[in-house]
Amino acid sequence: MIKLETIISLAKRRGFVFQSSEIYGGLNGCWDYGPLGVELLNNLKSQWWKEMTFRDNIEGIDASILMHPRTWDASGHTKQFSDPMIDNKTSKSRHRADNLIEEHIDKLSKKNKKEEAELIAQKLENVQTNEDYYNIIMEHEIKDPISGTMDWTEVRNFNLMFKTFVGPLEDANSVVYLRPESAQGIFVNFKNVMETARLKPPFGIAQIGKAFRNEINTKNFLFRTREFEQMEMQFFIKPGSEKDWFEYWKEQRWNFWKNLGMKESKMKWKIHDKLAHYANYAVDIEFEFPFGFGEIEGIHSRTDFDLKAHQEFSGKKMEYVDTVNGDRYIPYVIETSGGVSRGVMAFLCNAYEEEEIKGDDGKSEVRSVMRFHSKLAPVTVAVFPLVNKDGMPEKAHQIYKDLQKNYKVQYDTSGAIGRRYRRQDEIGTPYCITVDGQSLEDNTVTIRERDSMNQDRINADNIQNYLREKIS
Ligand code: ATP
Repeated sequence: MIKLETIISLAKRRGFVFQSSEIYGGLNGCWDYGPLGVELLNNLKSQWWKEMTFRDNIEGIDASILMHPRTWDASGHTKQFSDPMIDNKTSKSRHRADNLIEEHIDKLSKKNKKEEAELIAQKLENVQTNEDYYNIIMEHEIKDPISGTMDWTEVRNFNLMFKTFVGPLEDANSVVYLRPESAQGIFVNFKNVMETARLKPPFGIAQIGKAFRNEINTKNFLFRTREFEQMEMQFFIKPGSEKDWFEYWKEQRWNFWKNLGMKESKMKWKIHDKLAHYANYAVDIEFEFPFGFGEIEGIHSRTDFDLKAHQEFSGKKMEYVDTVNGDRYIPYVIETSGGVSRGVMAFLCNAYEEEEIKGDDGKSEVRSVMRFHSKLAPVTVAVFPLVNKDGMPEKAHQIYKDLQKNYKVQYDTSGAIGRRYRRQDEIGTPYCITVDGQSLEDNTVTIRERDSMNQDRINADNIQNYLREKIS
């Protein structure tokens, strides 16, 4: 299993991800995408966007981050979007009570204390109140990982929404929230989209956008951050058809990640036994990160909970009326809710491999390679002149400029050719083209494939066709 530190260090060294405002010591739970990271991020978003909206019955929107505060009363976020928080008085550290207990269960399992681990897991499953969390922590003597003490406060609710103010007055009437999920932007626009795009159920609305949660503990790199991006789709259906559509979307979403190269051996389903009050089916797709399995996307059957609540709070009808047969109903919703940032992190971990190969000098060396799917790879192709003379740079540069019309391309002239391959392997570039002496005589180039390291010699005029075929 690769270490998280390996991924974080490569991400920084090669310009995938930097700490936010690093020169000031960083800001917890916030990260910046660098030149390669933003390409990977955009490629993932663009694959999702195509997957969702290049269909007959799904349209996209882009809603604003700030929304009318009543939205969050209707959705239940103002009252219920909180995590159980506990403080240690000695170390002054703050924890999510459920995570603290989960980590303790993990520790016990690793120490082969299976019985106690199962007992606590059972209790955690049945927690109803904050006092229940507190009792588990005290009864099972769960200590603060920092101070090693049990000097705990009681467990309190901590609302995860970031609050701010609109306009010049900072009073209760001007409070707004940074949206904690993008989904509500879709629900409040349900009628607008249905009517303007002339849709009728079953149909979907898709959106990619930022969401903000004041997470109690941010850790594990991009996995749990305070600012992140979601890709969500709400699929509006006739009540009663939710089981079939739920199964349909489960399969669709699993295949999306799989078809972009995610190893199925690192994916699993998590079935929710304890459902949110509004849901009648819910599963997560989990990926095995270096720290263990974690959710990358949830698929939820949310009934008519959200539309009904918005109808009640806004006083506006949220129904679909079938003009042919007079049918009238508030649609049920199947939601697919994925994390872009978590997806990027999953693909970074999924792609990274180290393998032993023979170097230019015949000695064995370790090659770090990012095996990104070619549709996700930040750079699709790199072009090198074998040596910096005899007309090779001119020809290579021309090829580079031509390819740039369609692809993200790098041009590299420095160092031995083996080193240049290694640099591209490490950032996951699927193809490298080299212009050599023969290229000048017969207009051929070598094209090397990242994973097999095989080289084909092809006519330079065929490069675009070659790549198009390989990438599709
Ligand atoms: P968790 O239980 O891990 O906090 P959640 O169940 O609250 O996640 P959802 O509300 O279902 O998550 O959000 C949908 C998706 O948004 C998640 O699958 C995840 O990919 C992403 N996501 C949620 N919270 C965060 C976060 N703090 N940082 C990064 N991505 C997140």
